[in-house]
Amino acid sequence: MRRILVLGGGTAGTLVANLLARELGAEIMKGDVEITLLDEDGNHVFQPNLLYTSFKGMKPEKIVRPEKKLLHKRINFSIDRVTKINFTNNKVITESNKTYIYDDLIIAVGSKIARDEILGFDEANLDFHSSQENALKVWERIQEIRKGKVVVGVSAFPHKCPPAPVEAAFLLEEFFKKRKLKDNVEIHFITPISRPYPDPTISNTIERHFKERGIIIHPFFNIDRVDSEKKIIYSLEGTDLEFEAMFVVPPHKAPQAIIDSKIGDEDGWIPTDKYTLLVNGQKNVYAIGDVADLRTSKSGVTAHLEAVVVARNIIADIRQTGERCKFTGRTHCPMDVGYGKALFVISTYDKAAKDAKPTRRNLLMKKAFAQMYWTAVGGSLEWLFDRYFGEDARECFIEEPI
Ligand SMILES: Cc1cc2nc3c(=O)[nH]c(=O)nc-3n(C[C@H](O)[C@H](O)[C@H](O)COP(=O)(O)OP(=O)(O)OC[C@H]3O[C@@H](n4cnc5c(N)ncnc54)[C@H](O)[C@@H]3O)c2cc1C
Repeated sequence: MRRILVLGGGTAGTLVANLLARELGAEIMKGDVEITLLDEDGNHVFQPNLLYTSFKGMKPEKIVRPEKKLLHKRINFSIDRVTKINFTNNKVITESNKTYIYDDLIIAVGSKIARDEILGFDEANLDFHSSQENALKVWERIQEIRKGKVVVGVSAFPHKCPPAPVEAAFLLEEFFKKRKLKDNVEIHFITPISRPYPDPTISNTIERHFKERGIIIHPFFNIDRVDSEKKIIYSLEGTDLEFEAMFVVPPHKAPQAIIDSKIGDEDGWIPTDKYTLLVNGQKNVYAIGDVADLRTSKSGVTAHLEAVVVARNIIADIRQTGERCKFTGRTHCPMDVGYGKALFVISTYDKAAKDAKPTRRNLLMKKAFAQMYWTAVGGSLEWLFDRYFGEDARECFIEEPI
């Protein structure tokens, strides 16, 4: 019996488990393979739509489904928080004190908001990044704003969905303009780095659009502390910024279980081979999605493409077909710039992003993907994604026997 254990039922974990269960039906029926998935809360949130709950008022219940309904029936599913992972004994311990032994482990527990990293930040800031409840608070808060400075942006890197803070700025500008409040409300974008987006080409495009729409950028703004009573953000660089409301993406870390298990760096990001997605030094442990320390974006599309690589490699190993797949680092991050348009940030490990133009077609594609998401995590749309991403997402070859 080969025991495949998947930790985390988000984008990466759900897809990899479903792809394995769909393909390995015969082996599972014979009792040769067993797939188990553990998730801490049993709810699956389509996180890109948190942005639309926050800035367009989308109903929060529309963006969440029970994880169990998304999983193939051949997968054993438990709602149980992982607390410790031990590579030496191939063991995982959970909050309910159960021990799971694995032959293959896939860690897909995503990332968490690190609320207390910055003094005063959490009292002053509302985030659209962590939950439907918080996204709804953002939506309620923006209805009340009539004047003053609204601060958005990034508190620290890395964080999931690199375009999200920029999208927040664009969607807020559209929101206040449509309500004829643009003369009274200023949007300020803060970032610890020299430009509004990590990629320089995309950053130039954003700067141009920010300028046209009156969004003010504060580069090299590393938040030191926030005074929620005086409503001032102090930076390490010695500047400060008053605000009426603050919707800045909080610092991110890996989940506590990873930090406690000492298998990641100091923030818990797991050192991972960028091609095979095997955890460094391990032959049977993979890290996919946000939790891996890869130099590609922490995004759902990337998590999806990584899940396919790992599923194919495990299947090939079980069936001894000799196939090996390597992830290319492909990203495909949609950026909604408001007024019905979006652009895509597309890159791989070897190809930097090209300049991209916001178009209506891009926004329609982003929306179409959101519609398809619940089917896509089931694993039945890979024929479509293969056509779209092709060899840009992975390189597969047959390994010659030694
Ligand atoms: C506002 C916003 C907008 C975004 N927009 C886009 C977009 O347009 N396009 C895009 O590609 N990506 C987007 N993303 C990013 C995308 O949602 C994430 O990168 C993606 O979900 C990562 O997948 P994952 O499986 O690694 O983590 P997640 O999907 O977060 O799943 C992690 C899972 O692990 C579980 N878990 C955590 N800790 C434990 C534990 N200790 N034990 C058991 N289970 C645990 C969690 O419950 C969760 O189910 C957006 C994100 C946000 C917040």
